[in-house]
Amino acid sequence: MDCLFCKIINGDIPCSKVYEDDKVLAFNDIEPQAPVHILIIPKEHIKSAAEIDESNSVLIAHVFEVASKIAKDMKLDGFRIVNNCGDCAGQTVKHIHFHLMSGREFTWPAG
Ligand code: 5GP
Ligand code: ZN
Repeated sequence: MDCLFCKIINGDIPCSKVYEDDKVLAFNDIEPQAPVHILIIPKEHIKSAAEIDESNSVLIAHVFEVASKIAKDMKLDGFRIVNNCGDCAGQTVKHIHFHLMSGREFTWPAG
């Protein structure tokens, strides 16, 4: 499958790894938008948040457990988790991923 993040999971493309287990991989974003900008992805190829259903929601819950663990391990003083779903939301890589961002102030509402 021609998917950038599947290639990172397979090791065909290198990444700066932050966390890995049998179900999830987390690595630093190549173009960070904050001092801490980590992408957390399930190893299973799911295209977007629009495909979350009863068959994979336990896996997605695990992604959030990993986000919390990373935040604790890095002693983050607050963080933002972002998921862009679909072209209008700015999703450029069609393998579901969650941006874990920290280390600066964030505005709300997001643009
Ligand atoms: P999206 O715009 O789909 O929500 O987020 C995709 C993210 O993947 C972007 O923040 C972009 O910087 C990041 N990205 C794109 N290509 C690579 C890559 O080859 N390696 C890493 N580590 N991040 C990437
Ligand atoms: Zn993929």
